[in-house]
Formats: sequence, C-alpha cells, structure tokens
Amino acid sequence: MTYEDGKTVFNTFLIAKTSINIRYTIITPSQNCERDIMKYIEFLGTSGTRTPSQGTTCLRVSKHCVIDAGNLINAFGDDVFTIEHIFLTHSHLDHIIDIPFLADLFVTQKSISLKIYALKETLDDLRQFIFNHRVWPNFEEINLIGHTEKTIELIEIQLDHKYPIDDVTLTPFKTNHTDGSCGYLIEKNDAGILFTADTYKCPRVWELLDQNSHIHTLVTEVSFPSSFDKLAHDSKHLTPALLESELKQCKRNDFAIYAMHLKTLFAPTIIHELKTMNLLHNGGRVLNDNDIINF
Ligand SMILES: [Zn+2]
Ligand SMILES: [Zn+2]
Repeated sequence: MTYEDGKTVFNTFLIAKTSINIRYTIITPSQNCERDIMKYIEFLGTSGTRTPSQGTTCLRVSKHCVIDAGNLINAFGDDVFTIEHIFLTHSHLDHIIDIPFLADLFVTQKSISLKIYALKETLDDLRQFIFNHRVWPNFEEINLIGHTEKTIELIEIQLDHKYPIDDVTLTPFKTNHTDGSCGYLIEKNDAGILFTADTYKCPRVWELLDQNSHIHTLVTEVSFPSSFDKLAHDSKHLTPALLESELKQCKRNDFAIYAMHLKTLFAPTIIHELKTMNLLHNGGRVLNDNDIINF
C-alpha cells in the first residue's frame, strides 16, 4: 500500500513574512536531486509495518551514513557497500533488521569495520540477543577476511553530544519509547531537521524545537489511530489525538511536520485523522519510502 502516488521531493524555502520568518515546503520532481550531493535526507523506509512494498524505518543522512536499518539492503541495492556508519534509535526489530545481513555481506567484501552507534542499552541488546553466536555470528569478534579489522564495531554514544559524520552533525536526544531509545537532531550548515523516531509523549521534542529556531522540519511517528489510545500508551507510540495534544506544548508554529511509522492496516484512518485535525502544517504530509526532504 502507498499513501500517495509517486516519489516526491520536498524543498524547503525560507520566505520572509511580516516580521517573522516562516519556512514553506514546496513539492518538486525528484529528478532534480543528485544522489551524491547530499543536500537532503532520504527516507528509505517509512512504514511501521514491513510489507512486500514498504520498508521500515531507515534514513540516509549523508553519503556514508544512515539512521536505523529497517530497509537498507533493498533500498541501497548495489550501493550497499557505501554504508560506513549506522546510528540507531533503539533496538526494536523494525529498526535493526538489516544489520545482521549487512555484516554477513561485509565480512568478505570490506576492508573497514561497519560502525554502529547507539546508546548503551541498545548496544547491550545487540550483543545479548543478536550477535551472540546463537541467533547470528558475533561479527564484533570476527575479522574482515584478509584484514585485521573486525566486521562490525559497536560504538556507545551519549545523549545531547554532537557527532559530525561526513557533512552532517547528529545529536541524539532522549525519547519516551524503550530504555535507551533516542531521536536525532540532524544538522547541516545552519539548518536542522528533528527526527523523533518511535516515541510516546515526549516534552524534549518541543523543548528542542522552541530552543532551536533553525530546525525547519519535524519528522515524527504516528503509529495508531486515535481510538487505540491504550495500545499507544502500552507500546509507547503516538496517535493523531496524542500528537495534537503534544503540539500544544510547543510555542513555535513555523516548522513543517511530517508523519511516518504508520501501521499499514490503519494508515487510511490515521491519514484521515491527521487531515481532519490539520496537524501536518506548513506543507508537511505523510512520508512514503524514497521521499526526500531538503535541508
Ligand atoms: Zn520501536
Ligand atoms: Zn518502530
């Protein structure tokens, strides 16, 4: 299922309006974007459900760096060996699923380790439940064939520290989803995009938006329809009604809001609710796989 037709690119322009600056988002054809000029982030997987036509959470933020690994192998195809850095938001399967298969490909083909960055709890989960020589080989201990480096390197990151990679800077911030879950402020030059990944109610999101006027876009999750309030609470996800209530904490209204991580079975209902409540303002919309947002 796709939410809307075709691949779409979002260009955000700064337009002066009266005494304040408001950024508007304008849709233009994707052919205008060169893949190797990363003036944008590319959403390789945007769904909350894995289906034959949809990938789960995965964003390419620079030539060699992605956030989450829900849809790397299908999306990158022959380019998969260009991936050098994976920043994780948390250890749920829809965000890490391609990492074991990537390690399996890299062990015979690469000369440098695949670097995987996450908060301590997420790294602990990868070591204990995935790379444990039972579910999958422990590629943290296995050398790349013909080289002295290990296949993967697990690197612990700290909340609110800045991590420059290629030409972007990633800053993890605490979210309300699992132990060790985080979102990322993605910055390039003087522009910022705030990516929450999976989260329930999270005051830190609105604090960051209020403190950083250069953030022009918020990408947040909306997993369930508003009637699934209890399930949203128990699984730590948002609904349109919860997002509407959360937005009241934010003093700004000049940024674009995009939604992703919709559970496919409920996508039409969620989209209808988001439109009725007019939540995706300033040109935002529900994201599809392969959509692009410019800095
Ligand atoms: Zn999750
Ligand atoms: Zn998820």
